[in-house]
Amino acid sequence: MMKVIAYSTKGFDKPYLKKAAAGRHEIIFTEKRLTLETVSLANGCEAVALFTSDDASKDVLQELSGKGVKYIALRSTGYDHVDINASKDMGIRLANVPEYSPYSIAEHAVAMLMAVNRKLIESQLLMQLHDFRLDTLTGFDVHGKTVGIVGTGKIGMAFAKIMGGFGTIVLATDPVHNVKAEAAGIQYVSLSELIRRSDIISIHCPLHESTKNLFARAQFAQMKKGCVLINTSRGGIVNTEDLLEALEKGIIGSACLDVYDKEKGLFFEDHRNSILIDPNFAKLRSFKNVLITGHQAFLTHEALTGIAETTMNNLDCWAAGLESPNELYPQSVEHSSNKEELSETILTI
Ligand code: NAD
Repeated sequence: MMKVIAYSTKGFDKPYLKKAAAGRHEIIFTEKRLTLETVSLANGCEAVALFTSDDASKDVLQELSGKGVKYIALRSTGYDHVDINASKDMGIRLANVPEYSPYSIAEHAVAMLMAVNRKLIESQLLMQLHDFRLDTLTGFDVHGKTVGIVGTGKIGMAFAKIMGGFGTIVLATDPVHNVKAEAAGIQYVSLSELIRRSDIISIHCPLHESTKNLFARAQFAQMKKGCVLINTSRGGIVNTEDLLEALEKGIIGSACLDVYDKEKGLFFEDHRNSILIDPNFAKLRSFKNVLITGHQAFLTHEALTGIAETTMNNLDCWAAGLESPNELYPQSVEHSSNKEELSETILTI
């Protein structure tokens, strides 16, 4: 049994974590985010369980390490919120949830696309006002359009399959070509060709040094006028100021954003009684053709179950003195052979 503090746990995930733990670990649940201010809550804990909203930068990790924290179980696939080099140097063991229902995120991306395209939010608002006019609600057929997928990993492939069902032409870009994608008729092209040819672009690559601001002014300038941009991956992949400019210029037809570069401390919290001080976010929200959800693409029963079970399995391994198969820099030689490539990538981010 391990003493663990689970930061940033909310009403939506706490029951799943409790159920998956089944009393095997002593877990302290807190709604608070891990920051320098809240790190003291980890006193006496061997492990922390973190979410994407937590701050696992070098200074925070140093404090955790000083308190005797040896393990970090990430309740997410992405690990861009962790200073990996620092945690490795400090000897903190780190594991993520490498996969959980990719359909949850892919289906949310499709839901956003269809909501924005068929003006479902506006239509619902008009309906509530007893205004049954259709003049502002025209969308387009997705059938026959060209869809560009940035990153053909688990989520990108799930999205591609759904898009195939709509009767679209699917293009993709990814430094690693997925044989299943090629077999399914998905054509790999360069990022700039994908941008030039696509009517709809959906981002499914991780955030790291080389994907930060992957979509900025130069990329928006190449886009087809009216292109729909979907980002359910990480906010930092899209440069918000340049996106705002592209929206103002009418280059982008609509944007569907489940993530936002400055979402930490904003999403997942109740800010009803505070003033919105982020001018870019306020501006983004003011566009009728921008649909924003607060990092909720993963919010399905299946995904929450998968996240909780893998998180507990990671803690079980450590409590038993074993290595988890999900460690981001494996300790043993056997594990390191299949993770070699990943470790190298991590060391460069
Ligand atoms: P994955 O590792 O299966 O796939 C990622 C793919 O991106 C890989 O094929 C990789 O080669 C590719 N890639 C890397 N760099 C690239 C680049 N420069 N251009 C194009 N492709 C590139 O990961 P996944 O499970 O499909 O998840 C993808 C991302 O989705 C995660 O990294 C995470 O940021 C995000 N995510 C978001 C939510 C949410 O709720 N919004 C939930 C889970 C994951």
